[in-house]
Amino acid sequence: MPKMGVDPEATKAPKPVPSGWYKLKFKGFKQKVSSKKDSVNYNAQLEIVENKPEYNGKPVYMGLNTKMARSHVDFSHGLGFSLKPDGDYEGQWIFDPADPENIEKAQYKGPLLGRVLEAELVTTTYDGNERNDVKQIRCMVPGCATKHPDIKHMTNMISSKTQYK
Ligand SMILES: [Zn+2]
Repeated sequence: MPKMGVDPEATKAPKPVPSGWYKLKFKGFKQKVSSKKDSVNYNAQLEIVENKPEYNGKPVYMGLNTKMARSHVDFSHGLGFSLKPDGDYEGQWIFDPADPENIEKAQYKGPLLGRVLEAELVTTTYDGNERNDVKQIRCMVPGCATKHPDIKHMTNMISSKTQYK
């Protein structure tokens, strides 16, 4: 008889990792247009790597809204790439031929995929659940300060309204 129901392990609330610096592998974007339709969340999918077995593979998400342009710079630089002059990521987007205007169906294909960044994670509480959020990302673009004198990387991307530890 087939087993019915769900995986009991998957019913537990996700447990965040302790706050601190982690290596995170970039797996892809899952773009979502905001409800007001005036911005896009890129929703970067990351996972912990090069850590203890119980932490490796744990998912970490970054919203990356287009209204927070500086967070996109920090994210791209963390993976070792400057943004292109037009503000897009290095690489290309493959649009769905059946729905080419749909940003949510576009797939990012580029050199950032599979690369690892270093980020400081903190523990925030959202809807009563604890989760990890990225506070800052280490820049991996060589000579960034001289190459990009107008860029200053953020040291705290957590919204001032959010409590964290
Ligand atoms: Zn940089």
